[in-house]
Amino acid sequence: MSGRALITGITGQDGSYLAELLLEEGWSVFGLVRGPGLGCAAHLAGRIEVLEGDLRSAPTLRAAVERARPDHVYNLAAQTCVRTSFRDPVGTAEVTGAGAIRLIEAVRELAPRARLYQASSSEMFGSTPGPQNSGSPFAPRSPYGAAKLQAHWHVTTCRECYGMWAVSGIQFNHESPRRSEAFVSRKVTRAAARIQLGLQAQLELGDLGARRDWSHAQDAVRAMRLMMAQEEPRDLVVGSGETHSVEELVASAFGALDLDWRRHVVQDPALLRPVEPVHLVADPSEAGDRLGFSPRYSFQDLVEEMVAADLAREASLQDAPAAVAGA
Ligand code: NAP
Repeated sequence: MSGRALITGITGQDGSYLAELLLEEGWSVFGLVRGPGLGCAAHLAGRIEVLEGDLRSAPTLRAAVERARPDHVYNLAAQTCVRTSFRDPVGTAEVTGAGAIRLIEAVRELAPRARLYQASSSEMFGSTPGPQNSGSPFAPRSPYGAAKLQAHWHVTTCRECYGMWAVSGIQFNHESPRRSEAFVSRKVTRAAARIQLGLQAQLELGDLGARRDWSHAQDAVRAMRLMMAQEEPRDLVVGSGETHSVEELVASAFGALDLDWRRHVVQDPALLRPVEPVHLVADPSEAGDRLGFSPRYSFQDLVEEMVAADLAREASLQDAPAAVAGA
């Protein structure tokens, strides 16, 4: 199936991969963009239609829905950083929670037959012991998780009260070379590359023991597409089903470059989260059984791809091709 798809958050990691996937499938892709650039989707300029808009502004969202006349809407835009959400809970609620509701309401009124995907998050489970599935209780431990839950419940409300075709994909952490440097995975792979190139000596990290269920963002967007192709709208969790600690991430990233991470990594208590989720790990069986979904990338594949991309990027920035060749 192909048609017209509206993606919010197209300048971000997932939005840009999703746009690529939809274009490959023959969709007309409309991307909501709030700033001057296309970010991670810059290479798609000319192949997507850019619609100016902001989740904080209902009129811009209504105009975008009217222009796109979408068959599918993917709401991937959000204030996505958990640490930022502790510093700015109001701004996070405004964008990640209320912003999603604004968009959903615009779709409900102006494109009532469209299918809608909401990017929900494993952070909504917070203190619920893992493994989590779509029936696990929600107990967020961050303003980000709480804001995501508000949006999530609105999707449920619209589905159950108004019969809207709307699903929430409760995704666990997913990364890629397009991940922002605000996130630990990219911070680690970039630092490993810079240390290898002699551009940096040290990497400061918070809790090395924190564990996450990490997947590749390209697997995550594949799961989004499969969820939108379900016969009936059903929320599902999507994740790898295994966790790795930040220390394992560091060891893999530095190991890929034959670096001894213990010589470079220092712990900085200022980088600790005020409170960690208890143990977030997906029960992958639901998405496996219902969608036939299984990840294509392993944790090691993911880390190696990110390190290689950062090494190439940092080397090209420094005009140091010799360092890449020697890696
Ligand atoms: P990301 O790279 O941080 O991208 C966030 C996107 O949201 C960017 O395009 C950003 O635009 C846009 N945005 C932020 N504020 C906005 C506003 N007020 N109005 C319109 N757009 C706004 O995030 P991601 O990793 O691709 O994640 C995609 C979605 O999945 C997010 O909703 C995230 O919360 C959710 N999620 C992600 C993960 C994960 O591990 N990646 C896990 C679970 C759920 P600018 O470029 O203008 O900043």
